[in-house]
Amino acid sequence: MADSPTEDQELTGALRALTSATGEVAAAQARQAATVEQVLDQVRRLRGEPGLMAALRHVYWQHPAVPSKPLAAAAQFRSPGDMVAALGPVPSGITCEGCGAELLRTSRSWTAPDRQHCGGLVLCRECRSRRSEALDRKWALDAVRRGHVQDAPVAARGRDWLVPVSLVLAYPPVAVDWNPETVEREGLWYGYDIAQQVQEVLAGFDHEDLVGVSVGQATRLLTVAQEVAAWDTARALDLVQGFTGEVPAAVLARLGKAVEVVRAQRKREAAEVYPDDWVPPASS
Ligand SMILES: [Zn+2]
Repeated sequence: MADSPTEDQELTGALRALTSATGEVAAAQARQAATVEQVLDQVRRLRGEPGLMAALRHVYWQHPAVPSKPLAAAAQFRSPGDMVAALGPVPSGITCEGCGAELLRTSRSWTAPDRQHCGGLVLCRECRSRRSEALDRKWALDAVRRGHVQDAPVAARGRDWLVPVSLVLAYPPVAVDWNPETVEREGLWYGYDIAQQVQEVLAGFDHEDLVGVSVGQATRLLTVAQEVAAWDTARALDLVQGFTGEVPAAVLARLGKAVEVVRAQRKREAAEVYPDDWVPPASS
């Protein structure tokens, strides 16, 4: 620490200077507060005069040291918000990268819109809302097109569908967390519920009947059935030989092809039924 007299004196000197500077700051602050009061007085004097709004606009935008709350009160506005609305916006010097219009500052606290939120662009309010409408429309378009494909029925004999159903149902899930979302995300057993649903549908048909299973369901069912068939081919054969003379892989491949044919056809169809300029029906 400061053990020599010289260092002691230097510290004392520095502290004295600090105290003095702090006093000056306090004095300057007091002077500033007094001058702010003077400005507010002038504004009060202008109440009802034609020059009030011009003066207010100047003070509000050019002199942020005058707080907006007492300023609004001095001009007899109920709130700073009311005052700012009456004053109107001012040019910000920043142009919209969408339409080229100059952005307007609507209040002292206004900041330019973050380009990160608008695809790397600084956009005005109108361009932002146009952009988000376009994104919403694209999202809705993708969703209806996807639905058109996923919901399409794939027709195949009941006997064929029974193959993936039997394979999947032979291995009940052991997952403790039976949440379809997690199960799917973690790539665990997500075909069992679909196998059950298809089994219920098949119960109403004969083996030779054509039965429609949606592209979405069939895709999942077949993915899991193929895994099961690959685990233990001998057991897989055992599971299906009671009702089919084919090996599981052959039936699964045939069903897979049928799914792909319908998927491709419905994809083309979806682009026609829901063209790029498709507008989602207005929800009430
Ligand atoms: Zn714009």
